[in-house]
Amino acid sequence: MSALTDLLAFQRQTEALSSVAERLGWDQETVMPRGAADQRAEEMGAMEEVLHERRTDPRIGEWLEAADPQTPADRRAVQLIARDFARTSRVPARLASELARLTSLAQGIWAEARAKDAPEDFLPTLDQVLMLKREEAACLADGGDLYDALLDDYEPGMTGAQVAALFDAMRPRLVALREDVLGAARQPQALSGHFPQETQLRLARTCATAFGYDWTRGRMDLAVHPFSSGRWQDSRITTRVVETDPFNCLYSTIHEVGHSSYEQGIDPDYAFTPLGRGVSMGVHESQSRIYENQMGRGRAFTGWLFTRMAEAFDGLNITDADAFYATVNRVTPGYIRTEADEVQYNLHIMLRFDLERDLISGRLDSRDLVEAWNVRFLKDFGVVVDRPANGVLQDVHWSVGLFGYFPTYALGNVYAGCLNQALRAAVPDLDTALAQGDATPGTEWLRENVQRHGGLMPPAEVIEAASGVKISPEPLLDYLEQKFGGIYGL
Ligand code: ZN
Repeated sequence: MSALTDLLAFQRQTEALSSVAERLGWDQETVMPRGAADQRAEEMGAMEEVLHERRTDPRIGEWLEAADPQTPADRRAVQLIARDFARTSRVPARLASELARLTSLAQGIWAEARAKDAPEDFLPTLDQVLMLKREEAACLADGGDLYDALLDDYEPGMTGAQVAALFDAMRPRLVALREDVLGAARQPQALSGHFPQETQLRLARTCATAFGYDWTRGRMDLAVHPFSSGRWQDSRITTRVVETDPFNCLYSTIHEVGHSSYEQGIDPDYAFTPLGRGVSMGVHESQSRIYENQMGRGRAFTGWLFTRMAEAFDGLNITDADAFYATVNRVTPGYIRTEADEVQYNLHIMLRFDLERDLISGRLDSRDLVEAWNVRFLKDFGVVVDRPANGVLQDVHWSVGLFGYFPTYALGNVYAGCLNQALRAAVPDLDTALAQGDATPGTEWLRENVQRHGGLMPPAEVIEAASGVKISPEPLLDYLEQKFGGIYGL
């Protein structure tokens, strides 16, 4: 047996075990009995230990040394295994386990502080998380920039400086559009009424099917925070229901279908290899966003959805499809990132990106974080934050040590903009299908150009090859100005 064969066989089992661990996590967030938390923690801890041992197995180093991959897929697999191996070897086991322990505690402390609106209860813990994250970043950075080292985990190849330049180019046009939209004379009506859970879930299933979700290789359950989990033959989605706001359920579902379709669409030959999953968080988010926004919130699909919703809920307070399209895309001032519309969403991300970069570099002290957040929010959104739960305490990410993750949401939007431009040129009659509740031509194009490749190419390469342009925010900004200019009569 060659070193490459041994390496890939070993990796195959590691991938299978980590997929089992992921399914335990899915179970915990969906159907696990409430009283099983302690047992599950021990089960997951045991899995993590086995996985950590496998990922740091010294034989990987020897196989990597001797491996002589011949095909592009094998070369890339070796490259990705080497990258992971180097990463896990650079971070001492002591630091990795301290981080795991502290962040699991910190998540609980954050949740309590948020419920009590008491940032002072959380900030000392955040400071400890930050110290460990800086230490981890220093191990990974090898003398380079600390933030870049963390970002590289989620968006390989991207640097903080590149993200900053991208965001600087976007901010003025987004702020201007936001002001024009909020000040426009024409304002869409809000949807109101009571929308029973069962009916929402039935419609959500119809929407998932419309977007090509393969139910023979997936399922949908309820979760507090919707997510997707798994790949290949078992890629599951979750959704949530708010009985006064059916868009929450329907668009979370379409969003997660985007993530899940990516995993379902990867070339089955890559199963149980490092190529067999989405290549980065940004590319992943580009799929969920293009399904949810460019296709799902477009005039064509919302026209179809209007008829389905009016039928299912026995009439709506919105009476025609054009008004309904405006309602779906309604822009209102708000504090919360996860509830933000397409116009304001990226501004929420820019704020977090700048603050977390300063926290990691030490330019910002965690004791000054609340003040820094509030000042910046007022500047970018023109609104005074009313309470910490609506401000600095709203997101879980920092408590669990996710620094460098936030920008991938906005990168996903930027990538989706580039992809949408190419998709519309390649499939000019996409809207005809979407108007009939059928996103198949969109899914087919995305599958052929993005999804099937999995981890074969680096993130920027797959986006640029698919969209035929250098990554830039222009297509997204043009799309937003055109869309919202139309809805608001600008
Ligand atoms: Zn997402």
